[in-house]
Amino acid sequence: MSNRPWNFSAGPSVLPVEVLQTAAQEMLDWHGSGMSVMEMSHRGKQFMQICSEAEADLRSLLGLSDEFAVLFTTGGAIGQNAIVPLNLMGRNGAGKADYIVSGSWSKKSWQEAQRYGDAQVAASSGQAVELDGQACEAWTWFPDPATWNVRADAAYLHYCSNETIGGVEFADWPDMAQLGKGDVPVVVDASSNILSRPMDYSRIGMAYAGAQKNAGPAGVTLVVVRRDLLGHALPICPSAFDYAQVAQAGSMYNTPPTYAIYVAGLVFRWLREQGGVAAIEQRNIAKSKLLYDFIDQSGFYVNRVHSRFRSRMNVPFQLVDESLTDAFLKQAGEAQLLQLKGHKSVGGMRASIYNALPLQAVQALVDFMRDFEKRHG
Ligand code: PMP
Repeated sequence: MSNRPWNFSAGPSVLPVEVLQTAAQEMLDWHGSGMSVMEMSHRGKQFMQICSEAEADLRSLLGLSDEFAVLFTTGGAIGQNAIVPLNLMGRNGAGKADYIVSGSWSKKSWQEAQRYGDAQVAASSGQAVELDGQACEAWTWFPDPATWNVRADAAYLHYCSNETIGGVEFADWPDMAQLGKGDVPVVVDASSNILSRPMDYSRIGMAYAGAQKNAGPAGVTLVVVRRDLLGHALPICPSAFDYAQVAQAGSMYNTPPTYAIYVAGLVFRWLREQGGVAAIEQRNIAKSKLLYDFIDQSGFYVNRVHSRFRSRMNVPFQLVDESLTDAFLKQAGEAQLLQLKGHKSVGGMRASIYNALPLQAVQALVDFMRDFEKRHG
């Protein structure tokens, strides 16, 4: 194994060490081809094999039916903020799309969509509320689907299943038919919780994710889209971002990010070897419980997200005495606990504990936090 420090980055983030080792071994010569994957034609048989295995493994991990196309594309999740409306807003002629705004990332998605049509907020968590008898600050909870104001003629409804900055996760994807909105396909930004827990893709029309958290290195964006939603791109949609054209070409409409796809494929294989998404979910439950339980009992640290919506992937936390934040981060770095600084909009710390980070890392963080509290409490 290795004695590398523990890396809590929100993304690009830690990769399984076995994946890095395989990539290193195969760097100069992939499987006797005499080439690095970086040096291969994307149309050659070796890369075609790498890409089709990656797709098959991803399909199996997500439990996707053949109703969905899988695209390996570029532009990141922020690119999708434009590419989604460019592809779907014209679907039914109404030019409307509805957004759940639950934090920084979904707010950005909604703002970008306004450039392409009538994008409205169907629900927002941007105000303080009382929920289950708990007082919640803005952006620390998720609006109940029963309260979503979705227009019947919206081309789609968009939400973010895990707000990476706020640490708010929405895992209980609703059945839109039960909400009386069965004709409105759901689009999910799953950038920071894809592959971390089983999700019911039969409830949604599409999902996208930048790979650089749970799925691989930056550079490839995963898109899964129901095939019946393809073919409605607005005339101004760049061809390279028209899902129908990309799907038709098997993600080879233009040169895809070949090396990133290869490493993502190694991550998918690693995840299958770990027992798949249901098995990794159990580890993610244990990791996040260890950290949240410690924070809650301490009185020295605090996480303000409503207990039902606390992210298993990103755990923002503050010191009650915020003047100790710099000392905490400095000493954490010295203790080999890296990249714990919180996002500037939230402050404090954030521990991102993605699939590739073992329980041992979270235990090391909790031990450090306990020790820091002893010395400064
Ligand atoms: N959505 C979410 C939930 C994210 O976490 C991020 C990146 N942190 C983005 C969108 C933006 O992704 P990218 O930088 O790949 O465009």
